[in-house]
Amino acid sequence: MNIQQLVRKNILDLKPYSSARDEFDGSAHCFLDANENPLVSPYNRYPDPHQKSLKERIAEIKGVKSVNIFLGNGSDEAIDLLVAIFCEPQTDNIVSIVPSYGMYKVVADCRNVELRGAMLNEDFSLNMSNIERLVDINTKLTFFCSPNNPSGSLLDRNKILSFAKDFRGIVVIDEAYIDFADSESFILELENYHNIVVLQTFSKAWGLAGIRLGMAFAHSDIISILDKVKYPYNINQLTQEYAIKQLDRVVGCKKNIQTLNAERARLAGVLDSFEFVKKVYPSDSNFLLVKVDNANETYQYLLENGVIIRNRTNIPLCHNCIRITVGTVEENNILIELLKKIN
Ligand SMILES: *Cc1c(COP(=O)(O)O)cnc(C)c1O
Repeated sequence: MNIQQLVRKNILDLKPYSSARDEFDGSAHCFLDANENPLVSPYNRYPDPHQKSLKERIAEIKGVKSVNIFLGNGSDEAIDLLVAIFCEPQTDNIVSIVPSYGMYKVVADCRNVELRGAMLNEDFSLNMSNIERLVDINTKLTFFCSPNNPSGSLLDRNKILSFAKDFRGIVVIDEAYIDFADSESFILELENYHNIVVLQTFSKAWGLAGIRLGMAFAHSDIISILDKVKYPYNINQLTQEYAIKQLDRVVGCKKNIQTLNAERARLAGVLDSFEFVKKVYPSDSNFLLVKVDNANETYQYLLENGVIIRNRTNIPLCHNCIRITVGTVEENNILIELLKKIN
């Protein structure tokens, strides 16, 4: 498939902003090119617009090349730029699974692009005929989220791959929670499927939501267009430095994932034993979707006792469902003790 053919014409024709540090590529000791203030340090200089060192570290860890990595101000930036690149406002459309991450719809609305929601099955598994029914010649992007938010579970990998094989557009797979799942990443498929974009983030398993760093992995043709449209200095210096340091904590990160997954299992077991809990959905992520007798009351009761969870009762397929993030042992115990009283 020719990726260029899918790109909006104004984006193809776009000449990107060329920053001072783009035009200079060598070594110097006297930087008088970027109107920076030389009297202050260490954050007086513009950061690397290409995030070279950070991408090299991520490439090592993920087993891909730097040219297959885009870094954004959260994965939300990648989501927004993909819509901007591929979808002509009021003409093209996006097909997304429903229910899923709310940002797909917000971004589509901001960009004035129609988002068509393809309902999952009652058990939150993929319903491919719902998707295929909505796809037409103007569908440029499809959004899958696996493990999915708010349901928590993985989607069927083979169904997504066989869809991607036939689809004449871009298949985005949001893997924000993949590190909590016992499953391979779609990154492994990038060589076979040139129309796949895999989104990951530092916000969840890495515990770095505050530094705003998201990743997109894709064929270099797609990455180079993302790089062309992004703000030149979209990843600030503090974030680049801190992320490089934190990437040395791979072992610590894995240990935290094990701890949270063990807590997820414990919490699921306790919740399942409560009379007012109708169902604890299987989870491959760091949260649990739970169907209760009355989600509004449970939410309100916990709120009044200083515990905030997410009330998902108004989301399709999630009537009377609450979403609970797995916390520390202590936090989970506080939650359990409060819920025992409802029971
Ligand atoms: C939390 C989350 C993200 C992370 O977004 P960032 O902008 O990287 O913080 C992305 N996708 C889904 C489905 C999420 O739940």
